[in-house]
Amino acid sequence: MKDKLNKLKSLLLESHDLTMVASLLNWDQNTYMPTGGAEARGRQRALLSRISQEKSTSPEVGKLIDELVTNIDYFDEDSNEARMILKAKRDYDRAVRIPPPLIAELFAHFSKTFQAWMQAKSSNDFSLVAPMLEKTLQYSLKIAEFFPEMDHPADALIDQFDPGMTVAQIKPLFANLRKELVPLVQNITNREIPNDRFLKLYFSKDDQINFGERVIMDIGYDFSRGRQDLAPHPFTTKFSIDDVRITTRVNENDLIDAFFSTVHEAGHALYEQNISKEFEGTPLDRGTSSGIHESSSRLWENVVGRSYEFWRHYYPILQEYSGDNLATVSLDEFYRAINKVTPSLIRTDADEVTYNLHVLIRFGLELDLLEGKLTISELPKAWNDRYEEYLGVRPDNDTLGVMQDIHWFSGPIGGAFQGYTLGNIFSALIYSSALKASPGIPKEMEKGNFEPLRNWLSDNVYQFGSKYPPIELLKRFSDEPLSIKPYMKYLNNKYKSLYNLK
Ligand code: ZN
Repeated sequence: MKDKLNKLKSLLLESHDLTMVASLLNWDQNTYMPTGGAEARGRQRALLSRISQEKSTSPEVGKLIDELVTNIDYFDEDSNEARMILKAKRDYDRAVRIPPPLIAELFAHFSKTFQAWMQAKSSNDFSLVAPMLEKTLQYSLKIAEFFPEMDHPADALIDQFDPGMTVAQIKPLFANLRKELVPLVQNITNREIPNDRFLKLYFSKDDQINFGERVIMDIGYDFSRGRQDLAPHPFTTKFSIDDVRITTRVNENDLIDAFFSTVHEAGHALYEQNISKEFEGTPLDRGTSSGIHESSSRLWENVVGRSYEFWRHYYPILQEYSGDNLATVSLDEFYRAINKVTPSLIRTDADEVTYNLHVLIRFGLELDLLEGKLTISELPKAWNDRYEEYLGVRPDNDTLGVMQDIHWFSGPIGGAFQGYTLGNIFSALIYSSALKASPGIPKEMEKGNFEPLRNWLSDNVYQFGSKYPPIELLKRFSDEPLSIKPYMKYLNNKYKSLYNLK
């Protein structure tokens, strides 16, 4: 059996390496490639993904997986080997369900829709992309049909990003969250709005980059196994466990936009850089789900990066980096400014509290579309109505409304949004578990020492890569049933004192 497993690993490594080469092309495309390179690059990436897919779904791979699964008792139940085989089976089963001609069709449709969306967005005309989106909805339902064992059409799409999670599990969680968040946001917006004008002063690109890189080095991002470059839409990418790269964007009239984006991406990268080396190139060598990945990025960005303890250490340092900009601004004023809550139209600009409402709106609309309760032509109005209902704001046009995010215009409808809010919910659960085990974490943070927190995360989350599906991973260190309680406790504590709420 060991020989068979080694054979499987070497076959999957080839497919894996091709995917990593395709990621390198993608990284280059989003950072340094001249625009003229786009056409050839698209072709080259498509070729690599096709060959990689052929390798990972070959009959030889399928046969080896079958034999290994039949004899899984040969390995200890919780061993890396057994888990690797089961993960390989899961990946293989998913990959062979959808016939290759349909995959090619989907690929072509999504890239055409993406082009139409860019056009429609810049001319603020939803009708230019509506027929394509109509087709996307049909394709999304078609994908779901290949997973008849799942209860809800969205389940097949969610399962790809958040393995094992379902509408039945997420819907009540999100409904509870909405019940708690809407009044919290209303209470906050009834209070005095903190002054944050000083955050919009000039802050040079170099100083922003230098300050951000100093901080992420302190939290543990390893620059000898990574680098940071500029990109219009920040992202993290990985070519191996020892080469995990991040990107950021800089607005010289904003003191914190680049900073929090850098910390967010570094939170993703810390996860990937700290996966056990033993998993390199195997089905276990990446983060286990969107939700757990986002829990790491949001934990570092929000729970740590927007905390008072953190800025007790870094505020004087930031002041040094930013000339006279913050000379007369106190730490308390700064802390209130970076935690200002305002209902807004754009998800990616939203604060930590209202952010989830943006996600809940999208998740709810996705379910309605997939369940046939809503049509594409009704979508823009439904979007605006929900913004009014959840956040008390209404977009004037569809560019600021339904067309703002790339997700539905470059992939299926369903599966891509829930991970953001699951990440927030998980981040509080994970942080409270870390505090229980290591109560000195905040005190150390005040000294700029993140080792206790990072070590706890490495030991309990990062090192395992995809060995455990998300819910099983959480259960290993927390016996609480999955709920929004730790997250609401975190938000209520923080914002009650920030806004003097009762
Ligand atoms: Zn993220």
